[in-house]
Amino acid sequence: MQQWDVIVVGAGAAGLFCAIEAAKRGRKTLVLDNGKRIGRKILMSGGGRCNFTNIYASPANYLSQNRHFCKSALSRYTQWDFIALVQQYGIAYHEKTLGQLFCDDSAKDIVEMLQQECDKAGVQIALQQEITTVSYQDGQYQVVTPQLSRQCQSLVIASGGLSLPNLGATAFGYQLAEQFGLKVLPLRAGLVPLTWQPADKAVFEEISGVSLPVTAEANEVLFPEDMLFTHRGLSGPAILQISNYWQPGDELTINLVAGQDLTTLLTELQQQHPAQELKTALSRVLPKRLVEKLLELNVFQNQPLKALNPKSIERLVDSLQHYIFKPNGTEGYRTAEVTLGGVDTDELSSKTMEAKKQPGLYFIGEVVDVTGWLGGYNFQWAWSSGWVAGQYC
Ligand code: FAD
Repeated sequence: MQQWDVIVVGAGAAGLFCAIEAAKRGRKTLVLDNGKRIGRKILMSGGGRCNFTNIYASPANYLSQNRHFCKSALSRYTQWDFIALVQQYGIAYHEKTLGQLFCDDSAKDIVEMLQQECDKAGVQIALQQEITTVSYQDGQYQVVTPQLSRQCQSLVIASGGLSLPNLGATAFGYQLAEQFGLKVLPLRAGLVPLTWQPADKAVFEEISGVSLPVTAEANEVLFPEDMLFTHRGLSGPAILQISNYWQPGDELTINLVAGQDLTTLLTELQQQHPAQELKTALSRVLPKRLVEKLLELNVFQNQPLKALNPKSIERLVDSLQHYIFKPNGTEGYRTAEVTLGGVDTDELSSKTMEAKKQPGLYFIGEVVDVTGWLGGYNFQWAWSSGWVAGQYC
C-alpha cells in the first residue's frame, strides 16, 4: 500500500492548483487523473487560448444556492494573484472584452506553467488511473485502482463536472460525495446553447449563421452580448450566459435592437426618405436575413416610411425590443461549458473547502455548487478554491 499525505483526484485547473500549494507546504502529494494528459479542458478552453481569468471577477459573477460561499476563496486568492503568476512565467496575454484575459499564443502556456509549478513543488502525477473504490478507516482514505492501493490522510476531489464526457468527465465526485453522506444539489448543463421548438426550427434554421448584438433576458437577469442563430437553436455569448438562469419552460426575451435608438432613427429617416421601404430602413440596424425573416413572420408589414405614424413606430420598436423565444431545451453536456449544481456548499467549509462532517475530505472547482458566468470566471473559481484547499489539506 502506497502512503501519501494528500491525494487529489483530477488533474484539471483546480486539482493541479491545490496539489501545487499542498506540496509547497511539504505535503507528499499525488494527483490521479483518468486521462492521458493534464489540463485537458484548459487546453481546449477559450478557443485554444484559455480565458484564464477576468479582471472584474467578484462573487456577483457566480451562481450557487449559497451566494456567499465563494466570497472567502475568491478574496484570498484573487484574479490579481493569478495574473501575477502568469506574468512571472512571462506568458503574453491580452484583454479580449469585458475584462476577459486570454493567452496571446496558446492555452498550452498555462498548462506548461502548471506542470512546472508541480515539478518545482514536487507534486507526483499518475495518469490513466481508473479509481474503483474509495473507503475511509482510522483517519485514512484508501484509494484503489486496478493496479494499486493507495492510502492518504487528505483526499481532495477535483474531478470537475459532467460537460464534455468525451474529454473524461465523470460523475465520480458527485457519487463520492453521496457515498460519504454529503448532499448533492440537482445538476444541469450550463453555459450551453438553447435548442428550438420544432416549429421555430422550421422557421429559423434558414438564418443559421446570423449573429447580432442583443440583450437576452430570463428570470429578471439580463446579458448584453452577441447572439447567434444556429441550425439547432440559439447560441453566442448572450445565450450561453442566460442559459445559466434559464429553466425548462421559461421564455427568453430578446432585445434585437439593443443599444440602438430605433425610434429616433425611423423618425429621422421618415423625414429624409419618406418613400424608403421599412425593411430597407430596418436593415441599417439588423442583419438583412433577419429582417426578411421578421417580415415573413409578420413582425412588421413592409411599407413606405411615410405610412408610419408615431404609434406604429412605437409598436414596432416595442416588438423588436421584446422578441420572445421559447426554447425547447439545451444542447446538454455534449456542448455545455459547465455543470450547474453539485456538492452542496452547506456541506463544506468556505475557508478550507473541507467537508464539515467528513474530516480530510475536500471538494474544489466545478464539482462544487459554484458556477461562474462565461468569461474566465470558472477558471478563477478553480484557482481560488484549489489554492484555499491547498493551504489546509
Ligand atoms: P476539470 O478541468 O474538468 O478537471 C477535472 C479532471 O478530473 C479532468 O481531467 C477529468 O478527466 C478528471 N476526472 C474526472 N473523473 C475522474 C475520475 N473518475 N477519475 C480520475 N480523474 C477523473 N472556463 C473559463 O473560465 N474560461 C474559459 O475559457 C473556459 N472555456 C471552456 C471551454 C470549454 C469547451 C469547456 C467545456 C469549458 C470551459 N470553461 C472555461 C470551464 C472550465 O473549463 C471549467 O470550469 C474548469 O475546467 C473546471 O476545473 P476543474 O479542475 O474543477 O475540473
